[in-house]
Amino acid sequence: MNTDFCVGCNSSNNMPSCGVAKIATKINLKDFLNNNFDYSVLYPVCPKNALNIVNGRITISNECISCNLCVFSCDQNNSQPPILIDDFKVLENLFLTNIILRLQLDLPIAIEVKADGNYREKRIDVAIQKDNKVYLIKILSNKNRLNYYLRSYTDIVNDISSIYPNYIFSPIILTSQKVFDTITENAEYCFTLRTLIELIEGE
Ligand code: SF4
Repeated sequence: MNTDFCVGCNSSNNMPSCGVAKIATKINLKDFLNNNFDYSVLYPVCPKNALNIVNGRITISNECISCNLCVFSCDQNNSQPPILIDDFKVLENLFLTNIILRLQLDLPIAIEVKADGNYREKRIDVAIQKDNKVYLIKILSNKNRLNYYLRSYTDIVNDISSIYPNYIFSPIILTSQKVFDTITENAEYCFTLRTLIELIEGE
């Protein structure tokens, strides 16, 4: 990997933004909508744990797969290279999914959000807010569960829409390209990482 992007900021105490992301998780939907939450859970950006601090400098080990996530995350670097990582692998990991969506959308985002009303025992995989639009996202790994999860998330949307009438909630199924290509019904609710980002950016 070409590490020329690294300006060698002082990393003697804490891993900088290229190495660690701050995530909001396990909060209530109400707090999410009211912006009453913190990004307080630290999670490594690198999916291969290839970033380390040695003698106060970031070093990158041979485990690196040149996915560009750390480059994208670096707050000293303005370039936005393509993120080159298998979407199936990303979606297996809720934290990594969160990191990629937040990096690319720069919007309020939280994972494992507790729904209100009759559904407070249920956790929404990912919630993203853009103005008065709120996307409630289920990550789907098995196509056979599509209708079950779509029904479940649609029920949540219907319920909470009456609690929060000023917001427009959308149930979204997020899946890998490989699974998406096999979906034949309710495909209008299904998105890949790329098409979900395009949808939200375009609204
Ligand atoms: S390019 Fe990807 S794999 Fe390599 S160090 Fe950066 S985050 Fe890790």
